Amino acid sequence: MEVRIYKTIHVKDTADIKDALEEAKRRGLPISVSGANHSQGGQTYIENAIVLDMKPYHRIIRLDEKNKEITVETGAAWEQIQKALNPHGLSLRIMQSQNLFTVGGTMSVNAHGRDIHEGPFIESVKSFRLMNADGDIVQVSRAEEPELFANVIGGYGLFGVILDVTLDLTEDEVYRQHVVPIHYEAFPDLFKKQVLEQPSIAMAIARLSVSPDSYLTDMFVTTYERTKEPLNDNLRKLHEENFASIGVTKFVFGLSRKWEWGKELVWKLQKKGYLLSDGDLISRNNAMRPAAKFMEYADTQRTDLLQEYFVPIDRFKPFVDGMRSIMREDELNLLNITVRYVPRNEESTLSYAKHDSFAFVLLFNNKRSAAEVEKLAASTRRLIDLALRNDGTYYLPYQLFANGDQLRAAYPMTDIFFEAKRRADPGLLFQNEFYARYAK
Ligand SMILES: Cc1cc2nc3c(=O)[nH]c(=O)nc-3n(C[C@H](O)[C@H](O)[C@H](O)COP(=O)(O)OP(=O)(O)OC[C@H]3O[C@@H](n4cnc5c(N)ncnc54)[C@H](O)[C@@H]3O)c2cc1C
Repeated sequence: MEVRIYKTIHVKDTADIKDALEEAKRRGLPISVSGANHSQGGQTYIENAIVLDMKPYHRIIRLDEKNKEITVETGAAWEQIQKALNPHGLSLRIMQSQNLFTVGGTMSVNAHGRDIHEGPFIESVKSFRLMNADGDIVQVSRAEEPELFANVIGGYGLFGVILDVTLDLTEDEVYRQHVVPIHYEAFPDLFKKQVLEQPSIAMAIARLSVSPDSYLTDMFVTTYERTKEPLNDNLRKLHEENFASIGVTKFVFGLSRKWEWGKELVWKLQKKGYLLSDGDLISRNNAMRPAAKFMEYADTQRTDLLQEYFVPIDRFKPFVDGMRSIMREDELNLLNITVRYVPRNEESTLSYAKHDSFAFVLLFNNKRSAAEVEKLAASTRRLIDLALRNDGTYYLPYQLFANGDQLRAAYPMTDIFFEAKRRADPGLLFQNEFYARYAK
């Protein structure tokens, strides 16, 4: 459905934000905040809103090498920050698996990544400044404003505009990649023994097959083991996407959207590629910027959609078995599933990391017609029920397919969160489709 907004303001400084807030109040309009806009369920807009596009607000304010800290404006994307940190041998503690996202978008969804020792993004935040609904700038940290700290991080832009943030950093280092093919039933045990119990393993990501002949049974696990290898110029050089290979990868991945044999071909090629990278050395910064452009996709009839579910690690097998049944019964066009690990962290009010969990990231291709979207919505509610039955949760930056009861079962603090929002912003200046759909 097309949503008409009032206008977009490309924010360059805090005066732009303050002016927008005043104009919105004068005209009786809501404000929505937008980063790189990769959330997929209207988290960055609402009908008739003044939308603040934060991307031009992207200066690096301070880099403190000694204390391993950085202060940045929240429109900055991770790509820019990686480029600033890399020459100093520094690295982010937590970010998404890809580097396309803004700092403000990452904070507001409380994102997570591949480092198995790090939970959600909130763990790396020291403090930030927020412009609230009164246009005042508030300094927020765990000590100064604990309630705001927990509500704003993972708070989907509903408490104000995060201006800048100070983040804890870590050192860039050299990892050795190991790639293990495995049957899914053996995965939880392998993960406990060969990943979680090995202090030298820094990161991990696994992939489940969507090829018809090994559907949700075959897997690959990639681990990144710390080494003592020097971070030489060659390893330190940041990987850039190779435009020649993007075309081919994009074409082959495109085949998997349409045909089962395309899915089989992609899995075969992925297997080959993974096994070839076994034993390779890679810097932490490069492990946190894998190729992404081949997934870009535009089609008037169809679209790609992401979803994510979190389940306690002991519920891996029942969750995969349940997913397989739902995918087959509902004939969903599943293109990809990756599995990461997120340790428990309940600091954010809307925390999804209630347990030490596996995070399943699912990519679907679906027709855009209303009937097909409603069909996917119904299947999504089945997948959410499956996650809830397994003591799990689902992630909020995607389509708003969950019903209110499911949201409240997955996020028991939902109504406390919305009450706090209304106390902080009684005029409901900051709004988005997420608030409109679920707030009572
Ligand atoms: C291809 C793809 C891969 C992804 N991978 C991951 C992953 O590995 N891990 C993960 O956790 N998630 C992942 N996501 C999910 C999620 O969409 C992103 O983590 C995050 O939302 C993207 O940041 P963004 O800049 O695009 O945010 P946007 O979509 O622009 O905004 C997200 C929310 O943040 C708010 N916001 C943005 N900036 C500010 C600000 N300055 N002040 C206040 N509020 C603000 C917005 O209002 C909105 O509610 C992925 C999404 C896609 C499409």
